[in-house]
Amino acid sequence: MSEYEGVWVFSENQPLMLELLGKGREIADKLQTELTAIVLGSGVKEKAEEAVNYGADKVYVVDDPKLETFQAERYLSALASLTSQYKPETFLIGSTKDGKALAARLATRLNTGCVTDCLQIEVTSEKGLTARKIVYGGNAIATITWRTKPQIATVPPRTFEKPEFKERKGQIIQVEAELEEPQTEKVEVKPLEVSQVKIEEADVIVSCGRGFEKKEDLALAEELAKVLNAQVGCSRPLAEDRKWFSEWIGLSGHKVKPSLYIACGISGVIQHVAGIRDSKIIVAINTDENAPIVEMADYIIVGDIHEMIPAITEAFKKHLSA
Ligand SMILES: Cc1cc2nc3c(=O)[nH]c(=O)nc-3n(C[C@H](O)[C@H](O)[C@H](O)COP(=O)(O)OP(=O)(O)OC[C@H]3O[C@@H](n4cnc5c(N)ncnc54)[C@H](O)[C@@H]3O)c2cc1C
Repeated sequence: MSEYEGVWVFSENQPLMLELLGKGREIADKLQTELTAIVLGSGVKEKAEEAVNYGADKVYVVDDPKLETFQAERYLSALASLTSQYKPETFLIGSTKDGKALAARLATRLNTGCVTDCLQIEVTSEKGLTARKIVYGGNAIATITWRTKPQIATVPPRTFEKPEFKERKGQIIQVEAELEEPQTEKVEVKPLEVSQVKIEEADVIVSCGRGFEKKEDLALAEELAKVLNAQVGCSRPLAEDRKWFSEWIGLSGHKVKPSLYIACGISGVIQHVAGIRDSKIIVAINTDENAPIVEMADYIIVGDIHEMIPAITEAFKKHLSA
């Protein structure tokens, strides 16, 4: 029997942790093994209990004031100590910026393989997993297997469904870990002004692309968003090149899953579409009836955003107040 056993999940982001528990449970059931959640932080009893109610058989908790905020070295030393001691066979880690930094460091420390940003993970052989991820800027899908254990995989938010909450019993085990001192020091953290609902959690999104030539025209999208109680999002050039937004939607940005996605002046190339394919309904407003977005949109409004957005805003206003 292999010295490696069990499926572990970890994310410092609790909603993502719950999603990982769903996939982790599926893998653990197939392999007839235990699902373990790792909870690191300060005062994290509730998070540990929640992990049990979302499917964990066992939770290892390192509760230490030094873990209150993320510090790669400290988190790494806690995870490295646990994994060396208990030897999980599979370890799913949330693909946040911190999670990816941690997974790569952990893999190096354990001298094992790490596949980042997995969009699919399946059990394909006795205890062996296969992962799929988008590569080459969204132009290909790579299928990857591990040759070493633990098999470390990072998973982006909203890739897998959060499982149902069920009152369950599980073992919650407090563990002491020697925490390495960080080599950098966080001097200050200033929250950015962000919209109330995170774009990846929004139910309706009005998204802006390079069809908007002037920043003041974004007011059109904002007005439509107000009427629909939606969030305003954008394609990458509006954030990265024009600096009108601080984040964007797509392969290298946020992956979204709204009920309604209105793409205004967005061409819909593969890198953008990779982030919106799970939207229930996609509406495209575009002057070009042959723009790639047309291929995947459910409704296409061929026309200029400067005319079409105010027109549909008015129509929604009337309809929703009727
Ligand atoms: C590695 C890599 C990762 C990337 N990641 C992302 C990502 O995560 N997200 C992302 O969005 N992009 C990403 N990109 C960039 C991507 O390749 C495209 O350049 C980008 O998505 C194009 O944005 P756009 O659709 O707003 O602009 P364009 O492609 O220029 O499209 C503008 C559209 O607006 C229409 N239009 C113009 N004027 C009007 C008008 N007045 N009314 C109505 N329609 C009008 C045009 O017909 C056109 O279809 C990435 C690129 C690379 C190389």
